[in-house]
Amino acid sequence: MIKTTPDKLPKSEPIQWGLDYINESLEFLMDSEIEQDYKLEIIFSSGKNLAHHYQSLLKKEAMLYKSTLIADNWEAGKLMALRLLVKATPCPAQSYIHPVDKLMFYYIYNLKYLSKFFTSINLINCRNLIPKSFIREVLEIAEKNGLNLDCLKSNGYPLLICSLPYEEKQPGCYFHSFHTAVLFANSHNETVKKHLILHELGHALFNLSNNNKSSNKLFNALLALLKKYHPYSKVISVKPFQHRYMEEVFADSLATYFLSDQEWEERTEGERQEKKDEWENNQHGKKPIPPDLEKAIKLYLENLKT
Ligand SMILES: [Zn+2]
Repeated sequence: MIKTTPDKLPKSEPIQWGLDYINESLEFLMDSEIEQDYKLEIIFSSGKNLAHHYQSLLKKEAMLYKSTLIADNWEAGKLMALRLLVKATPCPAQSYIHPVDKLMFYYIYNLKYLSKFFTSINLINCRNLIPKSFIREVLEIAEKNGLNLDCLKSNGYPLLICSLPYEEKQPGCYFHSFHTAVLFANSHNETVKKHLILHELGHALFNLSNNNKSSNKLFNALLALLKKYHPYSKVISVKPFQHRYMEEVFADSLATYFLSDQEWEERTEGERQEKKDEWENNQHGKKPIPPDLEKAIKLYLENLKT
């Protein structure tokens, strides 16, 4: 039976709670003695319970800013675990469209995928957490530089940004299927932290634009330019890897674009001159990104507004 229910979450370490929930759910699903109808009944009621706890915690702990929801520390861990599990769990409506075997297969697949991610997190508490107030300031920088944050909704869901109190080698990630960005604690300076947050925002935008046909023309033009400036190496010749590579280049270029004015202001006169010389040699002009690329990003962002 699944003993690790959401009402135990307030007093638990959220990642460990998630792992226990997943392991017990998998054991229950694999039990051949239990009838499939009963399994389905339990899956649906568990999903409903998870969603209820997720919604009430969201109201209490998350900061809503335009179409983003921001959380930090333990609450971020709890919200992340609940959101990923809610989205991984099939709901009754899906059983009218898909055969039960298919639902079960994907549910087990999702649980194993999340188990792998949760297991990989190093659960040593770290003080270098990125606070939600800082994340909001960074979102405002993106906004000032032309990003309409209301474009960050996916099927009506705002983008959830969770800043966890754990330190990882990879400082952040974005889960496309769950429309959730996860940030890890780190000791980088403020500019790097800003870049990391905007990079994850770039991943969210890349995936949304890929699904949104109306903005495809300018998005494709931007990708073509990015390919010109960042050609694939011979190693990345397989299509899915090329796509992944373009997503990284896109996310990085967008973060650089959003921060270019601010980075410039923060530099000393000597650093500015040094940078100018470097750009002149690269024929990039005064900005850290080439002017035609800058124009393409601007047009792409403007088009997102309509
Ligand atoms: Zn990335």
